Amino acid sequence: MRCMMCERFSLSHICSTCQKTLLAPTLHKRKILGSIPVYSFYPYDAIEPLLLTKHTDVGFYIYTLLAKNSFREFAREWSYENRVASLGVDDHSKSGYSHTAVLNRSLKSSAIKPYFGKLRATEQYKYAGKSVEERLLNPRKFQFLPFKEEEVILVDDIVTTGSTLTEAVEILGMHGKKVILCLTLSDAENR
Ligand SMILES: [Zn+2]
Repeated sequence: MRCMMCERFSLSHICSTCQKTLLAPTLHKRKILGSIPVYSFYPYDAIEPLLLTKHTDVGFYIYTLLAKNSFREFAREWSYENRVASLGVDDHSKSGYSHTAVLNRSLKSSAIKPYFGKLRATEQYKYAGKSVEERLLNPRKFQFLPFKEEEVILVDDIVTTGSTLTEAVEILGMHGKKVILCLTLSDAENR
């Protein structure tokens, strides 16, 4: 096959050279609710064509490669006093796989235990291209299922206004869970 980034022949969807250069993460930080850091690994424009594969057949492979170069590296270096849970925001599988579950799975480490299906949206309103007001009027209404750890890392692929992550933080808070940070592939405001 050909590398999606440079079009040279490659054994995977993105060749090893492009993974080392173009998929080397550059950590970007913003905050939600005034104090919770949201880290993203790539400027939006740098990986936009890759993010757009989300609902196609190659999406699973692309997200696996992105996760390997970003989330997995983060988990390998990150240490913390307690063992924490990581949750994908709405990890329903819409096209045969769940892209947030792929990212979340790659966080597995001695400090992080990924859980699946613990935070699922009961409303599937499409947020893409919608204003902050519309997003706030149409919350995801997350359904929460219990787990042991008290502290949580939230995982999503793209942060836009932050309203979905904020809603997830609030639902978890109502169940006695504390979100210590959020991880996303890309921040749509960081182009
Ligand atoms: Zn390449």
